[in-house]
Amino acid sequence: MKQSKADKIHYLEPELFTASGISSHGFTTRHEGVSRPPYNSLNLGTTTLDAAHNVEGNRHLLANAFGGGPERFVAVTQVHGVDLLVIDTPNPDYLHFQRLTCDGIITNQPEVMIAVSVADCVPLLLLDPEKRVVAALHAGWKGTAGNISAKGVAAMVELFGSDPSRILAAVGPAISPCCYEVDLPVLEAFRSQGGGYERFAEPSGEGKWRLDMSAANVAQLRDAGLGEENIEVAPHCVSCTSELFFSHRRDNGVTGRQMGFIMLK
Ligand SMILES: [Zn+2]
Repeated sequence: MKQSKADKIHYLEPELFTASGISSHGFTTRHEGVSRPPYNSLNLGTTTLDAAHNVEGNRHLLANAFGGGPERFVAVTQVHGVDLLVIDTPNPDYLHFQRLTCDGIITNQPEVMIAVSVADCVPLLLLDPEKRVVAALHAGWKGTAGNISAKGVAAMVELFGSDPSRILAAVGPAISPCCYEVDLPVLEAFRSQGGGYERFAEPSGEGKWRLDMSAANVAQLRDAGLGEENIEVAPHCVSCTSELFFSHRRDNGVTGRQMGFIMLK
């Protein structure tokens, strides 16, 4: 994943996706937005105490940088669930989706940017270059335990006829096990869902585990039928990389949000 820039947006660009040539896509960093500390500066999250006009201004910067424009920008109210929004027809009002509660967005509509906000959780993008369908998913520990990545793949298969072996995936920057210790309820959530994904939690002390959410999502995508060569993973830990990324845990909850975004051309 390389560091790229479009207008003012500094972002990580999954090169697998770029090679297909049909979408704009990436994971934002915190640079060159309009928000002040502690939200400096490209805070894209509406659930922070940052001024709403700052977040709106930052979202406009992102939407305009890739040509779709703010009126064709789709984000939702994320609730750490596994429900998905599917947009398969042109819509007169894309902004109203902001009030919808779900944690993933899928679309086959061109020039509609779909995006999920994160600040430790895994932002995940999917692209089917054959059927021209894209997805943006928010996978924190709850979404990962609920296997939202496989649900996104299944929806692309069922609704758009995607072949999982042709789907590309980009797993964006998230908090890594170096900085992500969890307790028993998190481990139990993985155990109760089946699939054996609790193997990505390593014991680190009495009642403590270090959880690798990115690796769990990669395994879930592999189990859903994606090829290993079709999955690109950001190498950063957002908590260790304060110059590039917000981290909810590192900043004690007072911080901004970055986004994973994708738009069909
Ligand atoms: Zn770290």
